[in-house]
Amino acid sequence: MSFDINNIVRTNIAKLKAYSSARDEFEEATAQMVFLDANENPFQNGVNRYPDPKQKGVKELLADLKGLPTNQILLGNGSDEVLDLIFRAFCEPKEDNVILLPPTYGMYGVLSELNNVQTKEVLLSENFDIRVKETLEVIDERSKIIFLCSPNNPSGNAFSEEKIKEIVENFSGLVVIDEAYIDFSSQESWLEKLDNYPNLIVTQTLSKAFGMAGIRLGVCYASCEVVEVLNRIKPPYNVNELTQQRAKERLSSFSEVEKEIGLILEERKKLEEKLQGISFISNLYPSDANFILVKVDDANKRYDQLLEKGIVIRNRTTQPLCENTLRFTVGTLSENTKLIAALNDIE
Ligand SMILES: *Cc1c(COP(=O)(O)O)cnc(C)c1O
Repeated sequence: MSFDINNIVRTNIAKLKAYSSARDEFEEATAQMVFLDANENPFQNGVNRYPDPKQKGVKELLADLKGLPTNQILLGNGSDEVLDLIFRAFCEPKEDNVILLPPTYGMYGVLSELNNVQTKEVLLSENFDIRVKETLEVIDERSKIIFLCSPNNPSGNAFSEEKIKEIVENFSGLVVIDEAYIDFSSQESWLEKLDNYPNLIVTQTLSKAFGMAGIRLGVCYASCEVVEVLNRIKPPYNVNELTQQRAKERLSSFSEVEKEIGLILEERKKLEEKLQGISFISNLYPSDANFILVKVDDANKRYDQLLEKGIVIRNRTTQPLCENTLRFTVGTLSENTKLIAALNDIE
């Protein structure tokens, strides 16, 4: 299918010129320069200056880590902002639609409503796989984006390369693959294939494997054409100075991140084994993420019982295809031990 960004970017956005901030106009900052351009307080405290609107340092580290040029990277205040920018750039309110595959991450639906964009929903299969034929069938001429969450939240599975390929190759709008949990997955990231697919957007985040949910840093990788549009509409200072500093520190010590991922994966395996032994758990869904979805006899009852013991999990029973399911995040050894003890107690 042929993809042309000019066919899908909103007309008002295509015409829009980016706001030029004071810091945009002077990129070649050197320590000797006197900055009297942005009405900042001149007394140094580490954050008295506006942050770099292009987040050059963070992007260079990510570019190194992922093997992509910096002009294929857009950063946001969490993935949530990145996803919102994608809606605002490409979906005409009240006219366009996006395709969601529930049960999946709730933010796609929330952002779609917020932007007054229609959603078409195609349920995943019973084992939470993409139903390719049914998904392609709902596409119409106003379909702009298909959201694929892989590994999927809340089911935990990653979709196969073949299934995703069929979607990406047979849709002339954008396919967003949300890879928030990719570092826990045995499947490969789609980043390496970005150059083959101009309609592909991959989002990742520092909130999960990188252990930085508190700094709010989401990442979007796409063609430089798509990234150029998103950069043009993003708020100039959307990633604050403290976030940029902490992200750079963390990205510079990726081996620590890898060590933690390894520990979480070990714990996930142990937890899966222990959960098999709980009598009221009737199904344990295979996980490619840092959480495990299980089916129980009575999700509301088990949720309350665990809460009484001070253990907070996620009850997913109201989600489509998720009746009587609970989602456990993989914690530390001691947290997981407490979870298992509590589950044994309430049997
Ligand atoms: C947790 C999560 C995110 C992360 O969102 P941030 O705004 O970056 O914290 C994104 N997508 C999915 C599917 C998630 O579960």
